[in-house]
Amino acid sequence: MSVPRKVVIIGSGPAGLTAAIYAARANLEPLVYEGSQPGGQLTITTDVENYPGFPDGVLGPEMMQLFRAQAQRFGAETMFRHVTKVDFSERPFKIWDGDELTLAETVIISTGASARLLGLENEMALMGHGVSACATCDGFFFKDQHVLVVGGGDSAMEEANFLTRFASQVTLVHRRDSLRASKIMQQRIADNPKIDVRWNSAITRMLGDPANGGLTGVILKDTQTGASEEFPVGGVFIAIGHKPNTDLFVDQLPLDKRGYLITEGKSSRTAVPGVFACGDVQDAVYRQAVTAAGSGCTAALDAERFLENLA
Ligand code: NAP
Repeated sequence: MSVPRKVVIIGSGPAGLTAAIYAARANLEPLVYEGSQPGGQLTITTDVENYPGFPDGVLGPEMMQLFRAQAQRFGAETMFRHVTKVDFSERPFKIWDGDELTLAETVIISTGASARLLGLENEMALMGHGVSACATCDGFFFKDQHVLVVGGGDSAMEEANFLTRFASQVTLVHRRDSLRASKIMQQRIADNPKIDVRWNSAITRMLGDPANGGLTGVILKDTQTGASEEFPVGGVFIAIGHKPNTDLFVDQLPLDKRGYLITEGKSSRTAVPGVFACGDVQDAVYRQAVTAAGSGCTAALDAERFLENLA
């Protein structure tokens, strides 16, 4: 059987790649499974304006490439591979990528979170045919069109603003009469003449055939009066938050009621000694690139100390 790696990192957003930088600089030769979305959520965002050290902002994908290059410079091995199964019942831990098994003395989980969807019939079928959860990826296809953005948080504001670069009109659809987003983001929406808001509104149906022109419209329901109307539109962007990517760990580690991994106090320790978690997969509150990066550092230091205590 192969020699166990000292540190295996699952996930390659700011948390995972920061853990990789620290673990690599500690000569722990980390192996990073980059997963199905290498670079994580920042690769589907536009300008990152709040990461310290970039006074003029930086593009999300570019920033993640810089993180990766920095980790590789110190010897981290990064692979565009996806973990399919883990077994944390004994050490060395087992990590599978299909039939391929890797053993690890410590594991750092940084699998992040994914966009939530509305759960409507037709929604998945119409993904890529008028429905999207990523304005950066798909906004370009809606040049000079009217599109909807669903949600009232910072993500929805960001998506709506970004989409005005392409779309002729952006209507924000929000289920309540006030936004959850930060004041500065709300102000940007208010100041943008291409954006209007449909308050107290929810999409209850998506209309159209994916095989025949895609989305043609939605049914909008007034959440106060219950009245419904058809709203013809060719594009809907869903920006209603995220869910943690913890399916792999359901039988292995305790999760909280929202599905996030539980870590102990200020540490990155999970319930299994030697398994650590960092970034959005264990943080339902802050969820920022900079806080994820900070927690990635914590996880690498925790893993390093764990390994020292084994020696
Ligand atoms: P969020 O803050 O949780 O907001 C989700 C929004 O979607 C809420 O307005 C919510 O409505 C709505 N929503 C949820 N489920 C819905 C459903 N089934 N149907 C219709 N609407 C639904 O999520 P987020 O906007 O993704 O932001 C997550 C975190 O990242 C926040 O801390 C945010 O500040 C941060 N963030 C920051 C930036 C930035 O600063 N540039 C950008 C993006 C995100 P209710 O309000 O009624 O609950």
